[in-house]
Amino acid sequence: MIIDIIKKSLEGGNLTADEIAQLFEVPLFSSESAMIIAAGRQKCEKACKGLAEVHAQVGLNIAPCPNDCLFCSFASINGVFKEQVEVSLQDVLSQAKQFETDGANAIFIMATADYPFGKFIETSQEIRKELIPETVMIANVGDFNSIQAKQLKDAGFSGIYHAVRLGEGRDTKIKPERRLKTFEMAKEAGLILGTCLEPVGTEHSIEELVEKTIITRDAEPCFSGSARRIPIPNTKLADLGIVSEAKMAHILAVVRLALGYNIPGNCTHEPNVIGAAAGANLLWAEVGSNPRDTVEKTEAARGMNVDQCRKVFAEAEWKVLEGPSKFYSVDSRKELEKVIS
Ligand code: SF4
Repeated sequence: MIIDIIKKSLEGGNLTADEIAQLFEVPLFSSESAMIIAAGRQKCEKACKGLAEVHAQVGLNIAPCPNDCLFCSFASINGVFKEQVEVSLQDVLSQAKQFETDGANAIFIMATADYPFGKFIETSQEIRKELIPETVMIANVGDFNSIQAKQLKDAGFSGIYHAVRLGEGRDTKIKPERRLKTFEMAKEAGLILGTCLEPVGTEHSIEELVEKTIITRDAEPCFSGSARRIPIPNTKLADLGIVSEAKMAHILAVVRLALGYNIPGNCTHEPNVIGAAAGANLLWAEVGSNPRDTVEKTEAARGMNVDQCRKVFAEAEWKVLEGPSKFYSVDSRKELEKVIS
């Protein structure tokens, strides 16, 4: 039965919710789990023509955020950051430029959800001027409306990162519908969506994993994938522990099999070799603020740089794309789809 589901996926079939659930339920380290991981890697290589990507994120600010996502260090309720701290424009520009020099395939600009939108646009315009025109810029911000979506596009962003997170509306104060509306606004403005099944915790049911996986598929993003929750010390969710990298490898392979060849990317975060080996072809370097970290400069703690991400890929036998992201390029994706079909 599992072999049949894998075969259906590799042949380009759309898996049903029940089939995805069966793949998630397979015990780790069983021969069937090994088959799922091997097939996930195979499908991932075919979908991206064997080229992985390293994207890099610059965090603009730290602030206690009223949306109170329980897994986030910025959440007011978690009490990690009590003051508003802004990274200086000069530092932001030099960090973005450094990522470009280091060969990141796309540069993400991230701010907390209630960061003033106008200011985000102004800073982004400055960053855009600092970077060469070919460098792909992606916005990672809170929910936005149609006018703001157009402003992001006009500021030089190719796309966004956005997700309906596990526990959305339960562990966060944001309704899933609001997140889905932002997907729609982005699409209408011509912004390409990257998304993910995240943040996976020990308590999440198979049912919820399936539901959120299908949401990522239906959104027709340029990448999905899966990332685990990093426990923020002394918070309610930290007591639930952390999902192992070995289990995440199985989960991200299932996500890969649940999604079609039209979606070239399959991310994981934080970067790790077993995840990349199992079919994650997108990793992130990070600098500045980070919702999984408790220090102001994540590069001094959890955040990896571009070179470290490339080393993780090398250990997992991936070649890394040189140049601008193909995941976030409409033309490249059309080319990829032609090769596959
Ligand atoms: S994940 Fe985003 S919206 Fe949620 S608390 Fe953190 S910054 Fe705010």
